[in-house]
Amino acid sequence: MNKKIIIANWKLNPIGTKKAKHLFSGIKKVASTLRNVQTVVCPPFVYINDLQKLVTGHRVVVGSQDVFFENKGAFTGEISAGMLKDSGVKYIIVGHSERRALGETNNIVNKKIISALKEDINVVVCIGEIERDENAEYLNFLRTEIKESLHGISKNKLNKLAIAYEPIWAIGGSGGGTPDSPDETMETVLFIRKILSELFGKKNAMSTPILYGGSVNKKNAEGFLSESGVQGLLIGGASLDAVHFGEILKKADKI
Ligand code: PEP
Repeated sequence: MNKKIIIANWKLNPIGTKKAKHLFSGIKKVASTLRNVQTVVCPPFVYINDLQKLVTGHRVVVGSQDVFFENKGAFTGEISAGMLKDSGVKYIIVGHSERRALGETNNIVNKKIISALKEDINVVVCIGEIERDENAEYLNFLRTEIKESLHGISKNKLNKLAIAYEPIWAIGGSGGGTPDSPDETMETVLFIRKILSELFGKKNAMSTPILYGGSVNKKNAEGFLSESGVQGLLIGGASLDAVHFGEILKKADKI
């Protein structure tokens, strides 16, 4: 049985190393007992090294919310895949809608993916439409996002890649905060697999994990995991409460 991938995206939270360590320890307490779940905690960059020291084993690992596409040089304020690897980061989220809203294009996302894969780090590529229109134009938007973001990625790197489908209108905080339904997510997941299949062949498309993100909580998590054809979840708001997030992890372990 493949493990479910459950990712905590802490965004710009919490304030202070002490709180970050406390939250991580609370999550780890549950996550480390679960055989069927790969838990990934993505804190702000400044906490990565401190949290890394709390990691024991592989059931819960530290990830990053972003990466820069050059590995070193005159790029003030940036952090490279090589640096993240050196800090023990195992997963990198790329192309989150909150970064795209700040100007990140598919082309930049593509360069970031390539640089993370060069370091052999797992990459979680976020895609998602701004709105879901009745004429299904949003599918064209998703097609372009996938094709441009994954341009030139070789098949033999696909085992390090996952797609996070995060409709922007479903994301809490920066989006509208209304979760998608598992049924509708299922339709979009099938579409994403179709595009992946066009790009990389059916076998690779079927083995690439697809995650759902957008206002997931302990009440709806089970529905997404069991009814929408996803292999995991990307969770923002609900990952900031260790007890609430722990409930989601326990549910994921049983599916
Ligand atoms: C996210 O940040 O990727 C996200 C899905 O946030 P939330 O769970 O708060 O909607």
